[in-house]
Amino acid sequence: MIKFLPESASVVLEEVPDRVTLAVDITNCQGHCEGCHSPYLRGNFGEELTPEKIDALIADNFGVNCFLFLGEGADVDALLALVKYLNEKYPRLEVALYSGLPHTDDRVWDYFDYVKTGPYRRSYGPLNSPTTNQRMYRLQRGGGRESAVDITERFWHRGIDPNATTK
Ligand code: SF4
Repeated sequence: MIKFLPESASVVLEEVPDRVTLAVDITNCQGHCEGCHSPYLRGNFGEELTPEKIDALIADNFGVNCFLFLGEGADVDALLALVKYLNEKYPRLEVALYSGLPHTDDRVWDYFDYVKTGPYRRSYGPLNSPTTNQRMYRLQRGGGRESAVDITERFWHRGIDPNATTK
């Protein structure tokens, strides 16, 4: 099961380059980032994210062209079921994952259009810091990890926000 915080759902412009993105916070994070900026997301709480709730979120945010999971939770099979649902029902909607893990499950690379990997390390900075250890990849759907193109530098022109909370 994947749980999310309904109140976190919002449209964002910075998290995925050139996309109008509907982002939701996923709880039960399995990461252990040094200086974790959102420790509450490590708790196993929130509402189950179901296909019906995804439909409602998209209907309420007409015009978005990307759906972003801010976190991957602790149930990869459930996460994959949701991204497959999105791929099939909304083929023109791109899907992104911000993972806080160094390596995500190999299967995610086949279904997401964007995957961000790497734990947050305060000393290296968030994704928009040129010294970041995190990486953002653009993928070809169905192409797997071999199709991944590192687009992290797309974030670097945006300056460094010392208060940034990029996962
Ligand atoms: S991924 Fe985010 S919530 Fe999870 S441990 Fe890292 S900073 Fe904290």
